Amino acid sequence: MAAGPALKQSPEIREPVNIIEQIASLDSLAAIDAELKDLDEELARDSGELEQKKTELESLEEKMASHNASIDEMDRMRGELISEVRQMSVQVERSREKLARCRTEREANAAQREVEEIRKLYRDRELEIEKLVGLVDQARMDLEATTATRDEIAKELGSSEGEVSSRLAAIRKAAKEKRDARKKFVSEVQPQLYRRYELIRKRRGTALAWTTEGDCSSCHMRLPPMVFQQLMQRTDFGQCPSCHRILFYRPAQELAESQSSGP
Ligand SMILES: [Zn+2]
Repeated sequence: MAAGPALKQSPEIREPVNIIEQIASLDSLAAIDAELKDLDEELARDSGELEQKKTELESLEEKMASHNASIDEMDRMRGELISEVRQMSVQVERSREKLARCRTEREANAAQREVEEIRKLYRDRELEIEKLVGLVDQARMDLEATTATRDEIAKELGSSEGEVSSRLAAIRKAAKEKRDARKKFVSEVQPQLYRRYELIRKRRGTALAWTTEGDCSSCHMRLPPMVFQQLMQRTDFGQCPSCHRILFYRPAQELAESQSSGP
């Protein structure tokens, strides 16, 4: 009658059961952590793409503003040059009249020089205006091209931002659910084992590995026969001598089951 409960409490019986439970909990924890890692990576990638597009849009808008400012400046300069040219043509007229009224050759020569000087200045200004017109045309073409690129990206962003944002929200939600589900498995793992698991996970990305035929499932290092023999007894976890991940023995049949039920 008393044999039942007494047997259950016996450590020789309880410990092997315990390690198998620990393996199951740690295995579930590792699966959730792998999913969380993927979700976090996806989140970083998607929000990165969105940010990149926004930054690109901002820099194109800055470029447009600078094109506009330089076009304004060149238009202003052209306006000034045009009014200078007008004044000069008035001056040329006056000098011509003066030339017509000249009585001595000396006066006539001086007036002629004046007319030529003003004409030269007039031609210089006209060349400057021509040059400015060319530059303004170029700047307007650049502005048009920049505006077209900006519009395209704004359109892309407009149609994808909502989509990306809702995808990001879905990923965040999924990650939160996984983090909540994770707590259950954390509570099932012995605290010391969990600390060891976290320490290795933070360093290596994953912390759990198994062996079925004597090599580490993670780094594929062949384990020393003693280590493998010990793991096969399933009395305690081991450690891979090469990658330092927590090791346990997974029989071939169990491996086949976990692979066929996997994603
Ligand atoms: Zn290893």
